[in-house]
Amino acid sequence: MKYDLVLVRFGEITIKGRNRNRFETMLLNQIKLALKGMPALEYVRGYARVYIHLNGEKYEPIAERLRDIFGIFTFSPVMKSEHDLQTIRDNSLELIRSLSPSPRTFKVSVKRGWKQYPHDSTEMNHLVGAHVLRNTPDLKVDVRQPDVELKIDIQHENTYIFCEVVKGAGGFPLGMNGKAMLLLSGGIDSPVAGWMAMRKGLKVEAVHFHSYPFTSEQAKDKVVALAKRLAYYGGKINLHLVPFTELQTKLQTQLSQSGQDSLIITLMRRFMLRITEKLAERNGALAIVTGDSLGQVASQTLGSMNVIGRSSSLPLLRPLVMMDKQDIIGFAEKIGTFETSILPFEDCCTLFVPKAPAINPNLKTVEHIEAHLGDELERLIDEAVAGTEMVMLREDGITDSEEQKEDAWF
Ligand code: ATP
Ligand code: MG
Repeated sequence: MKYDLVLVRFGEITIKGRNRNRFETMLLNQIKLALKGMPALEYVRGYARVYIHLNGEKYEPIAERLRDIFGIFTFSPVMKSEHDLQTIRDNSLELIRSLSPSPRTFKVSVKRGWKQYPHDSTEMNHLVGAHVLRNTPDLKVDVRQPDVELKIDIQHENTYIFCEVVKGAGGFPLGMNGKAMLLLSGGIDSPVAGWMAMRKGLKVEAVHFHSYPFTSEQAKDKVVALAKRLAYYGGKINLHLVPFTELQTKLQTQLSQSGQDSLIITLMRRFMLRITEKLAERNGALAIVTGDSLGQVASQTLGSMNVIGRSSSLPLLRPLVMMDKQDIIGFAEKIGTFETSILPFEDCCTLFVPKAPAINPNLKTVEHIEAHLGDELERLIDEAVAGTEMVMLREDGITDSEEQKEDAWF
């Protein structure tokens, strides 16, 4: 089928007033950026929607891209028709015939935005419906649950005909709700948490803690690959690589001397949050996103979350907290991170996991250990921050700062 345009409907319809305008402008800019490889496209804005005129471009690759843009509610490939009744009838028939699989039942829904049109919508439903029925032997009408709803929108300038409504990613345009730091491990969960945060309009910068040379180059490559996949959804992504070896080694020595190995993960996580808070401050982020899911491992019991969470005063966002693993895996597959996440390279935490990690760490004990570190604590944190490297990633590679500026989304 040769379509003429794509009608894109915007999501989060409860947004009102100036915010709506901001929402729509941001979303339109993001759509244009995602489709910038197709200069023939033309964009016409309507209320809570945009019409993308294809001007000869193919619909399918555009649909592929639109499906993943946050803030889009639904979209439809549309055929543009002249007003004259016979043309509308012929075009409708052509559209129905082009569908695969062929529908068994249909109904016609006409909307007459241009009131001067000689037939009203009830008449039009019959006039078009009868023509389609007469020319499609196995097709029947079903007004309640049709396989296909043939929609005809008669406007002053043209008539638009379509029947497919594709579900978009929903949420808010990227960046509309500010910025957060994403704690990105090499696992299954944190990339999904990042995608969910982005879908809710948060721009994210990823932070990864590595214990090179205890952790391998491949473990780092894996995180880079995951961040690149997130960059497909976000246009680009900054990945902060934090050296964690010294801090971990120090903690491990101290804890094993005092027979408190079970607390190492709790303490490591508290350090991660403190370091991330500093990176957040530098980068204008107002929250930290993690892939924690309640009860999944020792560091994700309520007791652990309580003790770990208290080390940072930024809001901790845990999009997966109430989700089951199987559902998280489903998302990881859908967003294209699963295959990378299950590669076998160890990350820094797996290496330092004690035999019996604390599931209910005592806040007082933890604070006591940290107090014992004294000035060392601040020094270790500052050194980790100072040693942090940043790479700017795109879906297909590393960018330099000039390119980054040129494509800034907001
Ligand atoms: P994931 O699949 O995201 O690794 P997980 O179920 O393996 O999660 P943990 O390893 O306990 O759980 O990690 C919990 C969360 O802590 C992760 O989702 C991530 O947000 C953060 N995290 C863990 N390790 C790292 C790391 N090396 N660098 C950055 N963040 C990390
Ligand atoms: Mg993990």
